Amino acid sequence: MSYQALYRVWRPQRFDDVIGQDVITTTLKNAIITNQLSHAYLFAGPRGTGKTSAAKILAKAINCPNQKDGEPCNECEICESITSGTLNDVIEIDAASNNGVEEIRDVRDKAKYAPTQATYKVYIIDEVHMLSTGAFNALLKTLEEPPAHVIFILATTEPQKIPATIISRVQRFDFKRITANDILGRMEFILNDKNIDYDDKALKVIAKAAEGGMRDALSILDQVLSFGFDKVTYENALQVTGSVTKSLLSKYLTNVVNHDVKDALSDVRKMLESGKDASRFVEDLIKYCQDILLYQQSPEMVEESELGVIDEEFKQLTSIVDAQRVYRMIVDLNDIQNQMRYTMHPDVYLDVLTVKLSTDTKQTVSQPTAQSTSSQSIDNQLVEQLQNQVASLQKQVEELTKNGVATNGGNTTAIEPAKRPVAKKSTGNSSNARVNLTKIYPVLDNATRQDLTNIQNIWDELLSGLDVTKRALMNVSKPVAASHDGVVVSFEYPFLFQKASTDEELQDALGNGLDRILNYVPDFVFIPAEQWPEIRKGYIVAQKNSGKEVRSESENSSVENSEQNDDNNNEKQDNEPKIVKQATQLFGEDIIDVKDD
Ligand SMILES: [Zn+2]
Repeated sequence: MSYQALYRVWRPQRFDDVIGQDVITTTLKNAIITNQLSHAYLFAGPRGTGKTSAAKILAKAINCPNQKDGEPCNECEICESITSGTLNDVIEIDAASNNGVEEIRDVRDKAKYAPTQATYKVYIIDEVHMLSTGAFNALLKTLEEPPAHVIFILATTEPQKIPATIISRVQRFDFKRITANDILGRMEFILNDKNIDYDDKALKVIAKAAEGGMRDALSILDQVLSFGFDKVTYENALQVTGSVTKSLLSKYLTNVVNHDVKDALSDVRKMLESGKDASRFVEDLIKYCQDILLYQQSPEMVEESELGVIDEEFKQLTSIVDAQRVYRMIVDLNDIQNQMRYTMHPDVYLDVLTVKLSTDTKQTVSQPTAQSTSSQSIDNQLVEQLQNQVASLQKQVEELTKNGVATNGGNTTAIEPAKRPVAKKSTGNSSNARVNLTKIYPVLDNATRQDLTNIQNIWDELLSGLDVTKRALMNVSKPVAASHDGVVVSFEYPFLFQKASTDEELQDALGNGLDRILNYVPDFVFIPAEQWPEIRKGYIVAQKNSGKEVRSESENSSVENSEQNDDNNNEKQDNEPKIVKQATQLFGEDIIDVKDD
C-alpha cells in the first residue's frame, strides 16, 4: 500500500475532531440539530485551519441518515461516499483552477435539479476569492434565489477579496490560527496512536514552525518521520524546519548584548558550518527578539502562546537587555533581512550584522519591566526610543561642531556667507520650534512644479552628502513644495521636525549641498508632515479671502506658471495674489504653535 500523508489519513471526520475551532463547530452542530441551516456559508481563515474539513463534515452531517448530535456517523454509504469524494450530490470546486463564468453558470444550471441520493446538494467552492468578476455575478444570482435543496459552502483564505454583495448573502465563520499547544496535542495523539517514539522538544519545534496550520504541522511531521526512520528526534525536527536551536540563539544574543564581537562572530561561523540558512537565522533572531519584548511586557502571554522558548538562558537575557536595545536590534535585523533578499551571498551580511549589533554603543541599563500590555505603551516606548536616538545624534552633531570637524566633505568654508540659508532665526535654541507661515507663504506664492521636481530629483544625492547623523535626521523628510528661493520640507515625526528646525548646522549643510549640486541656495522651511494639509488649506483660504489683489512684481517665478499642476500645489491658481499680508492679518501672529504629539 502506498504511503498516505498524515494530514490525509488524519483529516478530521467529525466536528469534534476539528482542532481549535470549537465555537464554529458547536454553532454548526447546533444548526444541524435544530434544523436551522443557512443556504450559504463562508468559511474564512488561514490555510490549514480546517475549513475544507469542516465543509465536508457539514456536508456529511446534513445528509447522513444516522446523524446524531449534529455529527455524521461516518459509516453509512452516504458518509463514506462523501469522504471518498464519490457522491455526485456533493460537488467540490477549486476556484483557483475553475474561476470562469462558464463553470459557475454550469453550477447554477445544475443546482436546479434535485439531489439524486442525498437530501441536500452541497457545493463546496474552495479559494472562492479567485473567481472572476463575471463568475461572482453568476454566483450572486444563485445565492439570491437559492434552490431549497442546495447549500453552498465557500472557503477562502482571503475574505477581503470577496465582493460585499456575496458576503451579505452568506453566514460567515472565521477560522482561527490553531494554537501551538493545540497542534502539539494533535501530533501527540497521532504519534501515540501509531506507536511512534518522539521527543517532546521536537514536537514543540514543529508546532511553532507550522504557524497555526495543522496541515503544515502534519506535513513537517511526515518529513521528520521519513528523515528519521520513524522516529521524531529534536535534531531532525530542527533540520527539517531549518530552525536554529534556541540555545544557539540565546548564546549569540547574550554575546551581542555583552559586546563580545569575537564570540558572537564565532557563533555565526558555527551556525553556518552546521548547514543552517543565513536568512532563516535572521528570521529566528527576529522572532526571538520579539519574544523577549513580549516577555518583558507580559510573561504570561509568552508562556501561553509560545512553546519551548522560555528556559533559563532566555529569562537571563530578558533581565539584562533593555527594551530599547531590542527595538534597535529588530530594526537592524529587518534591514539586513531586506538586503539579504538581493544577494547571492547572504552569509556575508551576517558578519556585518553581528559587528553592528555587538558594537551598539547606547547605554544598556537593566530593564524597567512595564506591566502594561497595551500597544499604547509599546508605541510610547518606540517614541521614547526614537527621541533618545535623536538626542544622541544631536549630541554627536554638537560635538562635531565643537571640535570643528567639517561635516560636509570639508567644503563648508567654500560657501560665501551671503549664499547661506537664513531660515532659522525664529527658532533660537529652544526646543519649541514653530511653523513659520511668513516663510512658507512666500515659497507657496512662487512655487512651481519644476522647482519641486528639481529638488526631488536631487534629494537622495543631497542626503547622501550629509554625514551619518544628519542623514539619519533627514531620512524621514521630504520636499513638498519649492520655489526658486525656498523649499518646504516636511518631517514624518514632529520631534524630528523640532530637532531639524533647531539644528543650524544641518541647515547650513543642506544649503551647501544644494549649492554644490544646483548652484543655487534656496531657504529651507521645515514643517511637521501632519500639519502640511492644514497649512495648504490655510494658504488657499487666505488666497481666496484676499480676492483679486494686485500681483506683486516680484512674483515672477523662474518657471512657467502653467506647470503648477503638481499634487502638492494643485490647488494653486495661475494668477494668485500675493497674500502674505493677508495671511498675517488672518492669523494675527505670523506663527502658529506646533502641536507636539
Ligand atoms: Zn452516515
